[in-house]
Amino acid sequence: MQVKNNQENRDTTEYHEQFMAIALQEARQALAEGEFPVGCVFVQDDQVLCKGRRLNSGENTRNEIDHAEVSTLRKLIRANPDLDFSTVTAYSTMEPCLMCYSTMLLSGIRTFVWAYEDVMGGGANLPLYMLNPLYAQVRVTLVDRVCRNESLALFQQFFQKYSYWQDSLLANYTLAQPGENLL
Ligand SMILES: [Zn+2]
Repeated sequence: MQVKNNQENRDTTEYHEQFMAIALQEARQALAEGEFPVGCVFVQDDQVLCKGRRLNSGENTRNEIDHAEVSTLRKLIRANPDLDFSTVTAYSTMEPCLMCYSTMLLSGIRTFVWAYEDVMGGGANLPLYMLNPLYAQVRVTLVDRVCRNESLALFQQFFQKYSYWQDSLLANYTLAQPGENLL
């Protein structure tokens, strides 16, 4: 993959879209497997370190642990136990939930990019400054709405078909959004 790799480009939408496109591929694969369509990519120095997707959101094996970010982070740590996470950027196709956000924060990740807002369970608006010192001193960079419509389209397809979080605030909000059938 050809990646723009100078420092100024790292803050641009175009730069982030390159990696979000890979996370969206993972989300599409999750949807094809009947899973909640969230994909995740971890990037450092313009390189994809690890990618993954939501596991075990289906009825028979459902849990709220194997979210895309947590399951991908496990793979990444297993493969790179000495990684410096402070320069890793996390790309998620949906705003990280409280569990994923805090797990990534505790791991040392400070830059988070996501596509579609989670109006029900998103955790990235956690007011860190109100918490105990370990969290209050953390400075994060948050970038939202990168490839938002592509991710939205996957969630609209999901909620039309699957029961997970059906009739929830998130499902109702998602299905009410314009932009259906964008893909
Ligand atoms: Zn999560």
